Amino acid sequence: MEEDQKPPEQPRGLTQQQKQFVADWVKEKAGGQVRPCAVCGAIRWVVGTDLVTPIRLERNNLALGGGNAYPSVPFICANCGNTHFLNSIVMNLPSDEGGS
Ligand SMILES: [Zn+2]
Repeated sequence: MEEDQKPPEQPRGLTQQQKQFVADWVKEKAGGQVRPCAVCGAIRWVVGTDLVTPIRLERNNLALGGGNAYPSVPFICANCGNTHFLNSIVMNLPSDEGGS
């Protein structure tokens, strides 16, 4: 798994420790080996720089403000862009205050 390069001045993204946690978690869940991309077959995964969440819809309308969110870590094929969103609560992602 490759580490992605981010500018050192970028604020409040996932820490390097959190990215490593995600990489290790994915590998463990995949049975100890990193699997190739389902689209292009490459093994060039990178962990996104920030948590993201899908926009919630309420009866087909945007529901902005309040309600549940689904914080997710982008897990991206660096070759073709195929992107998975892994729920950070399910993976029990540690907070950025603990490790650094
Ligand atoms: Zn790919």
